[in-house]
Amino acid sequence: MARYTGSVCRLCRREGTKLFLKGTRCYTKKCAFERRPSPPGQHGVRRRKMGDFGIQLREKQKVRRVYSVLERQFHNYFVAAGNVDGVTGENLLRFLETRLDNVVFRLGFATSRAQARQLVNHGHFAVNGVPTDVASFVVKPGDRIEVRESRRDREPFKLAKETLRSHQAPEWLSLEPARLAGSVLSLPRRDQMPLDLNEQLVVEFYSR
Ligand code: SF4
Repeated sequence: MARYTGSVCRLCRREGTKLFLKGTRCYTKKCAFERRPSPPGQHGVRRRKMGDFGIQLREKQKVRRVYSVLERQFHNYFVAAGNVDGVTGENLLRFLETRLDNVVFRLGFATSRAQARQLVNHGHFAVNGVPTDVASFVVKPGDRIEVRESRRDREPFKLAKETLRSHQAPEWLSLEPARLAGSVLSLPRRDQMPLDLNEQLVVEFYSR
């Protein structure tokens, strides 16, 4: 599957905000955005005035980059979000939040969504007892996500039992650190998705 292979710190500088794409490094002084917050490129420091379209475009890109989803798939989520009951922008975020890679990240098995995606792609997880290596798999209430029995003594999970004890999973998920497992209690409400994103601007972008 195609994916972005460039520098992810560049994306934070492009969007003018920290997107927290690199796990623990994002919270240290090594964060590239902390050291150089200007947009990347030769004319990055030049001040540009943005119109409505530019603001909507940047917000759409920000949401897409937070979840590391390519444009076509992101647009598919938007179309699907408009076809279910409720507020389209919130539905869109809900689709993204309930992706398996995001749930693995939210449960604390990985320090970034990129790492979570890699763990899923490597087949370390099972959903309801069925090995699942598709990062875009959408979980639903009642689903149980666990590290597969045969993978529990692998490097990423050796220390996980300890670190997970202090991890605070969001309200819509329940975590069982000792079992290296978690469950989906409900679909997340907007206030249960701690995201500094304006999804309404994304809706406006696609509704032009
Ligand atoms: Fe963004 Fe994290 Fe890189 Fe900082 S370290 S620029 S927050 S990805």
